[in-house]
Amino acid sequence: MAESTELQARETIHAGGEWRAATSGATREILDPADALPFAVVAEGDEKDVDLAIAAARRAFDEGPWPHTPVTERAALLRRVADLLVRDREELGRLEAQDAGKTVEEGRVDIDCVADAFRYFADLVAGEAPGRVVDAGSTDIHSVVVHEPLGVCGMITPWNYPLLQASWKIAPALAAGNTFVIKPSEITPMTTIAVIDLLVEAGLPEGVANIVTGPGHSVGARLSEHPDVDLVSFTGGTVSGIKVAEAAAPTVKKVALELGGKNPNVVFADACATDEGFDTAVDQALNAAFIHSGQVCSAGARLIIEESVRDRFVTELARRAEKIRLGRGTEDGVECGPLVSEQQRAKVEMYVESALKEGAVLRSGGKRPEPSPQRPENGYFYEPTVLDHCHREMRVVREEVFGPVVTVETFRTEDEAVALANDTEYGLAGGVWTSDAGRARRVAGRLRHGTIWINDFHPYLPQAEWGGFGKSGVGRELGPAGLAEYRETKHVYQNLAPKPVRWFAG
Ligand code: NDP
Repeated sequence: MAESTELQARETIHAGGEWRAATSGATREILDPADALPFAVVAEGDEKDVDLAIAAARRAFDEGPWPHTPVTERAALLRRVADLLVRDREELGRLEAQDAGKTVEEGRVDIDCVADAFRYFADLVAGEAPGRVVDAGSTDIHSVVVHEPLGVCGMITPWNYPLLQASWKIAPALAAGNTFVIKPSEITPMTTIAVIDLLVEAGLPEGVANIVTGPGHSVGARLSEHPDVDLVSFTGGTVSGIKVAEAAAPTVKKVALELGGKNPNVVFADACATDEGFDTAVDQALNAAFIHSGQVCSAGARLIIEESVRDRFVTELARRAEKIRLGRGTEDGVECGPLVSEQQRAKVEMYVESALKEGAVLRSGGKRPEPSPQRPENGYFYEPTVLDHCHREMRVVREEVFGPVVTVETFRTEDEAVALANDTEYGLAGGVWTSDAGRARRVAGRLRHGTIWINDFHPYLPQAEWGGFGKSGVGRELGPAGLAEYRETKHVYQNLAPKPVRWFAG
């Protein structure tokens, strides 16, 4: 691994078609979370860089061809981007793995999903009717409702799925004819920088796609408050999301927020009645909680299980959690990478400590693993942790840990299960496991979460909206509603036979 002094700083601010260094000259080292060593250096932008990028995006929207480019051409460009992502899949997947602490296979899957998002929004706009004709009750009136691009979109993204979260914003924004400025997480900007190059290679006009790397408190805040930004679309924690909404309010721009989650995974005893059913429910609970070390907004971090099967289920869950192979994501055989930063690991440790003080029983994990050839000593690793005998008053149950920690609560009746699952200020996603189809539909109908999985956990579809109830956010990504976020609606009323109205007599 290279020492930081050997690293070349790349110009990572793209404004108006040019790559630039930060106006201040500041840079930041990007660390590999598996060993805490720097592997890249990027520009550390600030408010001045944001202003330059917004001015470029504004010009490209007000004067450039992109908002008026026919949808078939815009769709063709998005499909070219998808092809370029497929071409660079291995390189981008590895870069994502190194930057965010994933396994390479997770990185590859992310890039496939990014390509799918570009294809989906290309197909969606290409297949649309140009407007909706409204019956105005007279053949002399032609009335049509059309959708137009919003303008300049500000985008702020987190570190857990850096390029995937970015693509859920970039693809619909471009499909709708907007220009944008994106600010990736300051600790995982690498693949978002790379995709700007792909957009340029695919033929996107100058100034349409802009990026400013740098911190949230300056770059993100400026993007949120700037009067020339028409929409700010944010994915991240609820605390930052509230700051974004507050900063955006004085300019009355549109705000879309994809925030945190504290997602229940409800398991009824009937789902475990057969060995096969039991094995599937345990396996999926493991995946729900520990994929990407639990750093997933929709992680199944609250296992809510029927009391009669709890002991058997939790024993098996803990046994399998202990066998998860932790290590650097580029090493063969590794199933789970490190946490993204020392700060994130410290937060996880704080929550586990508080849970144990409040009476939780540790069934697996609860500590840093021993270093090994696959797990450098300085990496931010933490063992998959199962906390039994939890209850809803505990901090670890109420707050988003965003790490490899699953809490166990129990219920006796269906009503109790629903009440527990809904007892959260969040409402992003939830799972229900049962062999009773009627119960499955009943419970799904009562859960107050944006996505409900029945006998599954985690899959999403680009065609289906994603977003949260409650403090999990405002607005939706993906699906037709994910495109609508990036559009204005306009009613055009045309009188084909105008006459005086004579409201006023004089
Ligand atoms: P943060 O809220 O810390 O950061 C998200 C982004 O916001 C980063 O780019 C950050 O910048 C920026 N930011 C921070 N403060 C401000 C501010 N005052 N104004 C504008 N921008 C700001 O979240 P994390 O990066 O820690 O990501 C984890 C969170 O994201 C979790 O809560 C998770 O649930 C949520 N998430 C939600 C998803 C969903 O679909 N609902 C999907 C994925 C994650 P900086 O570079 O300085 O960190």
